[in-house]
Amino acid sequence: LLSQIGALREGHILKQKMRIAGEHVGSDRIIEVCNPYTGKLIGTVPKASVPDIQNAFRIAKNFKSPLTRYDRYKIMMRTAELLRANADAISDLITAEAGLCKKDTLYEVGRACDVFLFAGNQALVDDGQVFSCDLTPHGKQRKVYTMKEPLLGAISAITPFNHPLNQVAHKVAPSIATNNRMVLKPTEKTPFSALLLADILYEAGLPPEMFSVVTGDPREIADEMLTNDDIDLVTFTGGVPIGKYIAAKAVYKRQVLELGGNDPIIVMEDADLDEASSLAVSGSYKNSGQRCTAIKRMIVHEQVADRFVELLVEKTRAIKYGDPTDPANDMGTVIDERAACYFENKVNEAVARGAKLLYGNKRQGALYSPTVLDHVPEDCSLVAEETFGPVSPVIRCKDIADAIRISNSTPYGLSSSVCTNRLDYITRFVRELQVGSVNMREVPGYRLELTPFGGIKDSGLGYKEGVLEAMKSFCNTKTYSLPW
Ligand code: NAD
Repeated sequence: LLSQIGALREGHILKQKMRIAGEHVGSDRIIEVCNPYTGKLIGTVPKASVPDIQNAFRIAKNFKSPLTRYDRYKIMMRTAELLRANADAISDLITAEAGLCKKDTLYEVGRACDVFLFAGNQALVDDGQVFSCDLTPHGKQRKVYTMKEPLLGAISAITPFNHPLNQVAHKVAPSIATNNRMVLKPTEKTPFSALLLADILYEAGLPPEMFSVVTGDPREIADEMLTNDDIDLVTFTGGVPIGKYIAAKAVYKRQVLELGGNDPIIVMEDADLDEASSLAVSGSYKNSGQRCTAIKRMIVHEQVADRFVELLVEKTRAIKYGDPTDPANDMGTVIDERAACYFENKVNEAVARGAKLLYGNKRQGALYSPTVLDHVPEDCSLVAEETFGPVSPVIRCKDIADAIRISNSTPYGLSSSVCTNRLDYITRFVRELQVGSVNMREVPGYRLELTPFGGIKDSGLGYKEGVLEAMKSFCNTKTYSLPW
């Protein structure tokens, strides 16, 4: 696949097959994938049948990895090197399938390298524990030890469109680090980056049985990805409705669900407004606003809201958007025209409810402009629900209690950003915001690929991702005790 990316610009069509334990498996039935910017067909992937999925999981479950910690470390370091060496071509592929601009997709390849770097290093760490047993009056001369083992069954992974490479890296790298075997289904909207990553992992020396990529129509194969007997764990990143469907369907499987968000930036009256407005712009428009942790609401103290909004509009005007392949652009398209129309309608609805449109709300196919609104009523659907696009809705608040109340008022609880220097405010926000992360004077999406990340309420069950936490959830902890 890597060698074909260059020809995409000349109109070459990628006719890809699945990677089932390294075998290229096709089908008579295919899914067409179009470039969101040009609307042109860029390639096809097979529609898997249920027996294809069953076969993939059977192979995965039956394979016992012979890899030592050092082997796994080497494979992941090599993967990171291959990704870095081919960063430009890989970013072209993501740009072609997702419509994300080159700045965003180059950044994404860099993040995926970090994931493998951290997972490779973490594979070297034995986190077993030792407990002496003579700690109480009825103690004994023994010790209890813990060790982590890979799951007996396979891991089923399902990923969304917004980071077609990095979301896949965040599933497979911890799986390799813990010697597990995974079958992954990328979204049918952006399936090529996952297939490419499988090729790179095989080239880096991964036994192919440890990672398969299947493609298809979720209406036909999703249930098999959730209920197959050979699966021990389902790890899913995507929206709340499908996440809740999985929670109900994948009965007695371990579940890691990373779902949607409605993250705020909160700007208090003492904030540095230049810094706050820069964070607001980058948090709102990076990746075309399609990040689970994108800034989806701006809750601004009324004393500074006028000036903040002025700066926000000025910095939004400076965002260059258009052709995703133009390296000078800051933003490409959103995932498809349907999504762009959806944002347009939501913005129009907010305006009908009294919000003031200050910039944007222009659409051309899947290209949707950065958009700023002020005086947005806190209960209109633009801000009460997740708007997964480049929209900056400002909600004015009176004081810290009001800011916390508005922030906590939606069903989501992923991350947040707070701009203030007051320690009394900071401690209160950290304690009272009902979210998985609070970033002071940083965007909600700020993290290392290593650090714990994930939401509460409708954003997730509280199990975190990030390389380290994912490795924990992908293992069984065995204890054994010895006379000592
Ligand atoms: P989506 O929920 O529509 O689809 C995600 C995946 O689920 C796709 O692979 C899809 O094919 C699959 N799917 C469809 N029907 C299914 C079913 N019945 N059972 C199992 N899987 C099924 O999400 P999307 O539109 O691709 O991505 C956007 C959403 O993802 C947003 O809500 C965003 O906030 C969320 N997201 C969350 C995180 C996080 O870490 N919390 C990260 C990125 C994106």
